[in-house]
Amino acid sequence: MDTKAFRALSYGVYVITSQVEGRPVGCVANSVMQITSSPATVAVSMNRDNFTHSALASTGVFAVNVLGEQSNPSLIGRFGFSSSRDTDKFTGVSYEEKQGVPVLHDSCAFLLCRVIDRMETSTHTVFLSEVIDAGVFPPAIAGDPMTYAYYHKVIKGTSPKNAPTYLPEEGEKKPEAGKTSSVRWVCSVCGYVYEGDPLPDGFVCPLCSAPAEKFTRQVG
Ligand code: FE
Repeated sequence: MDTKAFRALSYGVYVITSQVEGRPVGCVANSVMQITSSPATVAVSMNRDNFTHSALASTGVFAVNVLGEQSNPSLIGRFGFSSSRDTDKFTGVSYEEKQGVPVLHDSCAFLLCRVIDRMETSTHTVFLSEVIDAGVFPPAIAGDPMTYAYYHKVIKGTSPKNAPTYLPEEGEKKPEAGKTSSVRWVCSVCGYVYEGDPLPDGFVCPLCSAPAEKFTRQVG
């Protein structure tokens, strides 16, 4: 099976937010799809190991925040590569609450959802959810909605291993065709790739804010 076929599927990049005992929580997801229009329902796939999974399972209310190409990429590092179990991901993040659920301002749109059914896979839960509110932010804030392809090709990010769309070969990136340099530095936290050598002094990962010491040099 050529798993690169899965890359032919289209996805967006979303932050799923909720709250546990009054504390805001959230994580990145890309497996979100609309199921029906009337009533409006969506399905969200989430790994059961995610702390945010427990919030969806217990409160049943969450928001899908649609990230844009101009959204601060650190949101992906913050929400995608750390856990709400031991991290307050919302410090310094602009958001408002709708029915107790945090909605991020640095995004294209939001869907406020209530879980109405769920399906278990071996690792993930698919939450079927009714959309109970929705809104669009001005395009000047976050730009066009970010696709998963844009995240890979332009932001040069990868997926955490518990993402439904994770592919093992992500950690074995080859240099882009035409590139003269075959040396790159890879963030050990989020997989961001810096093309070139050396890594600039004081470099900080634009995705997850990891310091230069977290980068490993790869040749070939
Ligand atoms: Fe990083």
